[in-house]
Amino acid sequence: MTVGRQPLVLTIPDRCKTCYGCVRECPAKAIRIVSGQAQVIPDRCIGCGNCVQVCSQGAKAIRDGLPEVEALLASGRPVALELAPSFPAEFVDLPWRRLVGMIRAAGFAFVHEVAFGADLVSERYRRLVEQSDGRQYIATTCPALVEYVQHYFPHLVDRLAPIVSPMVATARVIRLEHGPEVPVVFAGPCIAKKGEATWDGGGEIDGVLTFPELRALLLRRGVEADLAGDSDFDPPHGGLGGLFPVTGGLLKSASIDDDLVHAEGVAVDGHRRFVEAIREFEAGAVPAVLLEVLACEGCVMGPGMTRKDPRFRRQAEVTRTLRERARELDEEPWEQAMERYRTLDLSRRFSAVDRRVPGPSPEELQELLARLGKSRPEDELNCGACGYATCVEHATAIHQGLAENEMCLPYAIDRLRTTVRDLHASHEQLAAAQEALVQAEKLASMGQLAAGIAHEVNNPLGVVLMYAHLLAEELPPDSPLAADLRLIAEQATRCKNIVSGLLNFARQNQVRLQPVDVRDLVQAALRGVRRSDSVKVVVEDGACDPMAELDRDQVIQVLVNVLVNACEAMPQGGTLTVRIDGDADWVVLEVEDTGVGIPQDHMGRIFTPFFTTKPMGRGTGLGLAVSYGIVKMHRGEIRVRSQADPTRGPTGTTFTIRLPRRGRSE
Ligand code: ADP
Ligand code: MG
Repeated sequence: MTVGRQPLVLTIPDRCKTCYGCVRECPAKAIRIVSGQAQVIPDRCIGCGNCVQVCSQGAKAIRDGLPEVEALLASGRPVALELAPSFPAEFVDLPWRRLVGMIRAAGFAFVHEVAFGADLVSERYRRLVEQSDGRQYIATTCPALVEYVQHYFPHLVDRLAPIVSPMVATARVIRLEHGPEVPVVFAGPCIAKKGEATWDGGGEIDGVLTFPELRALLLRRGVEADLAGDSDFDPPHGGLGGLFPVTGGLLKSASIDDDLVHAEGVAVDGHRRFVEAIREFEAGAVPAVLLEVLACEGCVMGPGMTRKDPRFRRQAEVTRTLRERARELDEEPWEQAMERYRTLDLSRRFSAVDRRVPGPSPEELQELLARLGKSRPEDELNCGACGYATCVEHATAIHQGLAENEMCLPYAIDRLRTTVRDLHASHEQLAAAQEALVQAEKLASMGQLAAGIAHEVNNPLGVVLMYAHLLAEELPPDSPLAADLRLIAEQATRCKNIVSGLLNFARQNQVRLQPVDVRDLVQAALRGVRRSDSVKVVVEDGACDPMAELDRDQVIQVLVNVLVNACEAMPQGGTLTVRIDGDADWVVLEVEDTGVGIPQDHMGRIFTPFFTTKPMGRGTGLGLAVSYGIVKMHRGEIRVRSQADPTRGPTGTTFTIRLPRRGRSE
């Protein structure tokens, strides 16, 4: 066996839907999940074909044996085909003589029964058991099993029975019968035979076909059952070796006693049981000289079959054909052939090809499990969804580079939940940001208009005011016009204040940054607000650095505006909370009231100039517009949260003002 050999089983990309069925069923742990696709690792694969059998998506393909065989047939040389004894379980639709006739019609010069090679091999096993001298052996008729021991129980290779398989024994007979140059093709239900053909550099078997491939070959070469004649196998014919594809068939044909008293042999099959059996053998618990192990439930259940019949139906086909042939078998030539080949060398040695991968240390294992969200023993659900029996096995496989975290179902569900939560949060953030942007755009265009008007109105207003003052000075003090002039000046001043507010909103004014203590600033603002005794004021100082570079007067104006609104929202009284907080870069001022709240449909308009819900003469609708402008001039932000629906809990409003700590004016 060579390292880096050709894969026996390939994954068809994109067909794999990562159900982990193949991972679960692979006794050699030779399947790696990479980016959600199952890959067979050629060097670890033993060719048992379990993954092919369990994949419901047909995502596993067996290495194609047809091109080699077609090339041999096309070469014009006489080619021999040896047929595995499980053939009656596959070709239930054809009498065996017709099948042989068809194989000949396809161009094979010789058609032999592997059953005769099995007869020879049985005889060698009989001798091995008789001469065992207390030594225990594992039978080597199943190539998947042989590779399994070589890779994963390398210390047991000297227990592998040193006897070739019936396939190789038959090939040696064929070459003695027909000449050493005859190419030999094996046809059977086995994928691992394709690997066995290459052991020790190959040379004895020139091609391996599965039964479906044999059917395909017959079809391609235009062989039809109705037209092909009947034919018998080339001698030597097989005897009880025909039982090999049935579990225990080797023991039976070699007359090795498997009863509990004599305990010469024990037979085990199936991809789960065979692994257990090897472990028990290793532990010295198998009470027999010879352990016959088949990776499938007998070769009749091999992966290279088209039939879907149940096990005993297949076995029955094999034994029925065997009985039929036994009735016709002429014992004498068979015995002569056995005698002729009694001295044929059928021995072979096996060497270890250790493919074990070290597992993680206890610390590494703990770390791996923690990454899967399994920090405590009770987190290990051992649900098997990942394809591994336990969470520890899965973590070990991750360590060995065979598995991924994502294979863990609870882990994946948890991650999905977090992702959904994150997505939801970022969706909300996005919506808020979008709303703020629309708002800012609206206010910006409004600011342009306001600034234009304010500029135009400001100068005439100044003139009106100036002349009103001049006239007042020139009038005699008792003039009846004095009161009218005072009213003119008063109203003009009011207009000037509004215009100045608009300029603030439009960010047309300058900010004069200076270091200020925000605690003082809050106190000054609170002093500037008239409020009823029923409003309780709470100041919460987050004890962060109180110093910041701000335009003191303007920020006081912002706070006063917000505080006045808060008080006005609580005509029956309530609690007014002012919070001072922040971090290294930002000062955060929060004003919270327990007032009536702002209805949802007003939220988008409160920063707009002249938006007010207050009666004429009470509100100008400029307070928040001006505050917005000032905060923006500081490159800060002002936000509002409000609850105005009493049926949904206590109402109230919170304004949050964030200002950069180190002077960053526009
Ligand atoms: P004014 O106070 O002159 O109405 P503002 O710009 O200060 O103008 O406020 C605009 C509107 O926003 C108010 O009329 C009011 O409807 C709403 N408002 C502002 N702050 C609050 C608050 N704390 N509670 C309830 N409504 C508020
Ligand atoms: Mg106001």
